Amino acid sequence: MVRDYLYPDYEVIRNADMCIACRVCERQCANEVHKYDADLKKMVSNTASCVDCQRCVCLCPTHALKVIKSDNTFKINANWTNEAISDIIRQAGTGAVLLSAMGTPKEYPVYWDKILINASQVTNPSIDPLREPMETKTYLGKKAAEIIRDKNGNIVPKTSPQLELEVPIMFSAMSYGSISYNAHKSLAMAAEELGILYNTGEGGLHEDFYQYGSNTIVQVASGRFGVHEDYLNSGAAIEIKMGQGAKPGIGGHLPGAKIVGDISKTRMIPEGTDAISPAPHHDIYSIEDLRQLVFSLKEASDYKKPVIVKIAAVHNVAAIASGIARSGADIIAIDGYRGGTGAAPKKIRDNVGIPIELALASVDQRLRDEGIRGDVSVVVGGSIRSSADIVKAVALGADAVYIATSALIALGCHLCRSCQSGKCNWGIATQIPELVKRLNPEDGKERLVNLVNAWTHEIKEMLGGMGINSIEALRGNRLMLRGIGMNEKELEILGIKHAGE
Ligand code: SF4
Ligand code: SF4
Repeated sequence: MVRDYLYPDYEVIRNADMCIACRVCERQCANEVHKYDADLKKMVSNTASCVDCQRCVCLCPTHALKVIKSDNTFKINANWTNEAISDIIRQAGTGAVLLSAMGTPKEYPVYWDKILINASQVTNPSIDPLREPMETKTYLGKKAAEIIRDKNGNIVPKTSPQLELEVPIMFSAMSYGSISYNAHKSLAMAAEELGILYNTGEGGLHEDFYQYGSNTIVQVASGRFGVHEDYLNSGAAIEIKMGQGAKPGIGGHLPGAKIVGDISKTRMIPEGTDAISPAPHHDIYSIEDLRQLVFSLKEASDYKKPVIVKIAAVHNVAAIASGIARSGADIIAIDGYRGGTGAAPKKIRDNVGIPIELALASVDQRLRDEGIRGDVSVVVGGSIRSSADIVKAVALGADAVYIATSALIALGCHLCRSCQSGKCNWGIATQIPELVKRLNPEDGKERLVNLVNAWTHEIKEMLGGMGINSIEALRGNRLMLRGIGMNEKELEILGIKHAGE
């Protein structure tokens, strides 16, 4: 209907002088934006189908293409924005929940960008990481409350199961089904080479990936897809997913169209069935219930693996984390409101949850105040974009970070936020065989390894600059941070001073 017509958000611009009609863009676009018009003897574009994934722009051999933000606009209105009007028109036409993907693009404050890192000058000289040792190794899990020695004075190692990471970085949960086999394989191989871990997400573990078990976190979510004894014992840790930052408080939905072949086998559900994870775990309504699941999983894995409980960053997150620390969990993972996803109701993604920076600071403080900080490690995620974000997170109290969107960008994602369509032109969020093969796992692994290695070099530089020679010595060291452009309350929650103090 004409009244539902919305001018496209993005426009495809083709430079006619540069285009040689090679039709690469036509073959590369799963959204059928480009077409050769034999009558006109030239390429034409259907701009309305463009999701701005940049695939054609990158692969055009003559650089004849660009995609620009449309400047068409409704009459300017600070209250009734283009987005507000367009969303109403779409919903009035369909009666449906608006779906989108990845993290929120809203202009909420990014506190990482309002925090500055210290550096040594005259006293406490800086350390040159090229010439002096710099320790980035990190252990996750419960820490012993006291050092126990035998009668000869030797330390008796008596710790709960620990995860050992070469750097305080892990690949966050992304299920096989929401991302492709080749994307999963890239993550698994990179984790193995880097000495870190990747996470199965809630889709189970493909039998081909059992070989990467010591670098795998296996997830147990409310749908319990693909969960069985071998699965629980195949990984280095087990993660109970209570929530995720992109869609706190609601479940997950992988459409039946994506439940094909190995995905249906791995999830242990019939082909073509929608994989719907309920919003709550139907056996968890209290910390006591959570404790039962934590210990059931420990029992099933012979008490050899740390159990992680993952939650979304929401109001009262510090109190919730305190309860989780007392549930017997070894690690708490907190996912901030900028965290990504393969599909989420747009209004939930953009309006529910809180920033990870504030959640992390309040959780770390609460656990310290209650004297239980050593009972649990804290891992944070939800839009960790750089090595500097990691250094700031560790100084605010994190033991390690989860990255996912950054990892996908390394694999080729251009953040078009249309993963829910299943037509990812970069071979990541898709199960269409012709698209999946666009991502070469060896190439993907190498790019992930490069990214983490580059960030590790930068982390070492920043540590050395502060005169610190280990991640351990930075953890919770908020004196190394200063805020800029924040109000008193924000500084108070973050527990840092203003720049200049
Ligand atoms: S890829 Fe570039 S040169 Fe080839 S048809 Fe498309 S716009 Fe033209
Ligand atoms: S994974 Fe693919 S579909 Fe999803 S945002 Fe990235 S490029 Fe777009």
